[in-house]
Amino acid sequence: MQIVPKAPTVKNPPEQFTGDVWLDAIASPQQEGDRMTVVKVRFVPGARTAWHSHARGQTLHVTEGVALLGSRDGTVVEALPGQTIYTPPGEEHWHGATPDDYMEHLAMIESADDPSTTTTWLEHVSDDDYRRP
Ligand code: MN
Repeated sequence: MQIVPKAPTVKNPPEQFTGDVWLDAIASPQQEGDRMTVVKVRFVPGARTAWHSHARGQTLHVTEGVALLGSRDGTVVEALPGQTIYTPPGEEHWHGATPDDYMEHLAMIESADDPSTTTTWLEHVSDDDYRRP
């Protein structure tokens, strides 16, 4: 076994996020055939992902603040620290902080057969779509 060296915290690209969102890698594929990626993601107040989907689904686990999670049917749900959210493969969604507080979650995904298709990024979330439930 080994302790994995800590990679620097990186800011997520503005093409895929509204507001500042910082990412720390926790687990990455190590061996041929590995698919698991786990990241810690920190959103400043009002920050959120763009619309997107994951080829093999995604599990999120909220660790701080209140997470907002939006679906294409217009629903926005809240998730609290300790709660886990699962998004099925291909389902378009977004996740982010509330307007007034930081939010942190763990994000767990498995790579697609073609890793470049693991996450499909779409348009930014409008202010109308981003609203508290
Ligand atoms: Mn997602």
